[in-house]
Amino acid sequence: TITVGVLALQGAFIEHVNLLKQAVGQDSAEWEFIEVRTPQELARCDGLVLPGGESTTMSLVAARSNLLEPLREFVKVLRKPTWGTCAGLILLAESANRTKKGGQELVGGLDVRVNRNHFGRQAESFQAPLNLPFLGGTAEPFPAVFIRAPIVECILPHHKGIQVDEVDREDTVVAPSRPTKDAVAEAATADNVEVMATLSGPAARIATQSRNISPDEEIGDVIAVRQGNVFGTSFHPELTGDARIHAWWLRQVQAAVNKRNKLGQQ
Ligand code: GLN
Repeated sequence: TITVGVLALQGAFIEHVNLLKQAVGQDSAEWEFIEVRTPQELARCDGLVLPGGESTTMSLVAARSNLLEPLREFVKVLRKPTWGTCAGLILLAESANRTKKGGQELVGGLDVRVNRNHFGRQAESFQAPLNLPFLGGTAEPFPAVFIRAPIVECILPHHKGIQVDEVDREDTVVAPSRPTKDAVAEAATADNVEVMATLSGPAARIATQSRNISPDEEIGDVIAVRQGNVFGTSFHPELTGDARIHAWWLRQVQAAVNKRNKLGQQ
């Protein structure tokens, strides 16, 4: 069995568990999905989802539950497959801006800076049909739900510890750099950040109608990224009935587990 956890401290965790179950359907015997609230539960997981919600709250509760360090180890040292949606993406960023509500401690793992609440607060949510190339070229657009969503503002210089001048702004929170002595972590820094999806075309126009700023038409706002085993989306697939991204991500988890088992046998 492959065990996949959903961080269940705050936010839309039940929705993720439901869609994960929907995604595996008939093959459910091979998978176990658990809610994670303690370091012991985290230690059982082969993969982890960080749900949407409120990242400041989630981070505070994680700190109080003694989960922050175990989460950093899970993501940055063990490099087990991890997917963050919305608030979860914020926590997985190495750098984020503070909001009026303040900053928070980040887990990190993705060498990106995110801009929280990018689409403003006037009309804080919208749904837009997205083309997600990783679901396959002919896939139907994905009904993506954005709620006070972050975007990936920039990819940080490839690093062993962030080059702080690049991001040293007063409004910035930065995740503690990964332990550089660790061989696994060293290898992991070699992974590049891949842009998996941008907000462009019709989806960008819908976004523009509901926010205060105009979209970056040239490149499109970056709303999904992957770096090795760490994946993040600005939007909430768990709030739709569409399990395609969950199914895709579980295939990545499966591949990572197979790879680890193979290495273990050598
Ligand atoms: N804006 C929220 C935050 O900063 C994220 C919103 C969400 O997850 N829907 O944590």
